Amino acid sequence: MKEKVSLIRCNDYNFDKVKSSIIDSFHNLGGIEKYIDKGETVLLKLNLLMMKKPEDATTTHPVFTKALAQVLIEYGARVIIGDSPGGPFNNTLLKRIYKTCGIEKVAEEVGAELNYNTNSMEIANDKGLILKRITAIEVLQEVDKVISVSKLKTHGMMTFTGAVKNMFGVIPGLEKAEYHVRFKDYESFSNALVDICLAVTPTLSFMDGIVGMEGAGPSAGDTRKVGAVIASTSPYHLDVVATSIIGLKSSKVPTIQRCIERNLCKGNLEDIELLGDSLEGFILNDFVVPETRSLDLLDGILPKFVSNLFNNLIQPKPVFNHDKCVGCSDCAESCPPGVIDMIENRPHVSLEGCIRCFCCQELCPAEAVDIHRPILMKLLSKM
Ligand code: SF4
Ligand code: SF4
Repeated sequence: MKEKVSLIRCNDYNFDKVKSSIIDSFHNLGGIEKYIDKGETVLLKLNLLMMKKPEDATTTHPVFTKALAQVLIEYGARVIIGDSPGGPFNNTLLKRIYKTCGIEKVAEEVGAELNYNTNSMEIANDKGLILKRITAIEVLQEVDKVISVSKLKTHGMMTFTGAVKNMFGVIPGLEKAEYHVRFKDYESFSNALVDICLAVTPTLSFMDGIVGMEGAGPSAGDTRKVGAVIASTSPYHLDVVATSIIGLKSSKVPTIQRCIERNLCKGNLEDIELLGDSLEGFILNDFVVPETRSLDLLDGILPKFVSNLFNNLIQPKPVFNHDKCVGCSDCAESCPPGVIDMIENRPHVSLEGCIRCFCCQELCPAEAVDIHRPILMKLLSKM
């Protein structure tokens, strides 16, 4: 049976238009009552990566959040809004992020609650391939249902961050860094992301693709109008539709590759029943996506130290712009292997130990971290 994915045109964050698109999405998927019982508590798991204004398109837009929360509350559900952003998972940071991202205001307007429970809990994950247990934010056990509300964006490490990767935000705060250290290569890290998504299994997934981010996502890219509200019971199929819109091949997206290998989706539109507006009208062939392919072409052919040297030359690497840098140390504190040293208030990286996770770029508030991709890497990655 094909998975249903709803795709609705919505060109801006006018509240009435967004709310109407969300109502249409529920209608396309069979009605809200099919998924949520009146009186149930629903967690809207947003993407609240860091303190960014709504117009930066780094975080789920507050109007999108407000509209979805209002539809659920009017139906009779209790709504909690939450995420575990990058950095430490504590009330001070949560409060600042809710406020800056515009979420605090809209939650108050519609009568939704903001999550301030910063405890964690263990979840058994029988369906996991490499993660049979995960430590997750405790609010998951306070709610009856989880709805993922992701943002359509590119990602320096994973190429694309969508519905599947959005569930990485259930890992509490700095514990996310441990996953980068444990799963250094793209294949195992993307398998871990799929495992985390399976452990939570959101009842529904929505994507705020009204204005997305291209280029140096997930936080330092450029905003790009996409005009799409996407929804599905399957985060795996939702991501396939979203990447089709931005002209990104499944073979370039590690999470989709793992989902194909694990029979969670086919990675194309064959097993998808698209409902709503026609996909053709959304396709953007010039959407800028980062090249992220990991290249270990010489492994097993040359001695390890030679292949390491060569791979270091062709791998993408973080480059710190000391003029833009404000010396906050966020990159050093969030670097999973701890290879960034602050010297005279500016970051310096030891590339030998760098695992190319690009958390430093992701969490830099000053957009002072670029990912440098050598020309040789760009050429080889097209082979
Ligand atoms: S590079 Fe960015 S995150 Fe690192 S210290 Fe400078 S401003 Fe802070
Ligand atoms: S320097 Fe940046 S890319 Fe390298 S390991 Fe640290 S956070 Fe990841």
